[in-house]
Amino acid sequence: MQKISMDSINKKICEISGILIEELTILGQKEIENETCPICGQKMQKRYVEQHDSIRTVFGPCQHCEQELYEKTKQRQIENERKQRISKLFSISELGESFQKKTFETWIHNVKSENSYNEAVDYIEQFERYNGKGIVFYGGVGCGKTHLACAILHELIERGYVCLFKTLPDLFTQVYQSIGQENGIKESEIISILVTVDVLFLDDLGTEKATDFKQEFLFKVINGRYLSNKPTIITTNYDVNGLQARIGDKITSRLIEKCIISHNTAADYRRKFKDE
Ligand SMILES: [Zn+2]
Repeated sequence: MQKISMDSINKKICEISGILIEELTILGQKEIENETCPICGQKMQKRYVEQHDSIRTVFGPCQHCEQELYEKTKQRQIENERKQRISKLFSISELGESFQKKTFETWIHNVKSENSYNEAVDYIEQFERYNGKGIVFYGGVGCGKTHLACAILHELIERGYVCLFKTLPDLFTQVYQSIGQENGIKESEIISILVTVDVLFLDDLGTEKATDFKQEFLFKVINGRYLSNKPTIITTNYDVNGLQARIGDKITSRLIEKCIISHNTAADYRRKFKDE
């Protein structure tokens, strides 16, 4: 863990000393003679400060308050570092233009995808009433399922939900990198974020056959969300049997139980609509 700079600690101590000197001035000479901390009542430490070319004796913070301040400053710094690591791993702003463009407004209608589109619109309209139910979009490559899932996410972000969007291969690359680092975010911490976020969107589930580690990781995430009744949005190229073969039965059965399944039958959407 990175050390807190002594400068920042000293600065804080000086700030507190300043507060104490002010308070002591208000309290009067009697309190100064008592050398007791006005915050906790314990004995204070003698300190010498330079003032107008002379050295003055003041009473600095007591050891108890000083230690408490040090601990608090350290905790705050650790928490800030943790937040920075999390935002680096899960920043939705990193998704860029491609995500920004995928909204209901930019959806290009075509007969074969109409069903999926209607299900996405229904899902967002009934979202609160669905009470924790997620949605799985499945269909061939380029059928627009990621577009619909992103469109849902845009609406939910606008409603104030905390949403995360991760493409699964990317997620695992980041998980491996982070776990390998000395100061990296812990696996349990990543799982806890993925479980507790309001809405989680996992793109491309089952694209690569999950190893034991990945299956275990995914199960902890999906099962955690299942137990806490939080909606998960999934896109996949695979139907139920395909998913069972690639990510295992345990994860697949949790998803089926907690998600609306939307089958998109459109052929190669990207080939037809180049501007996606
Ligand atoms: Zn004190």
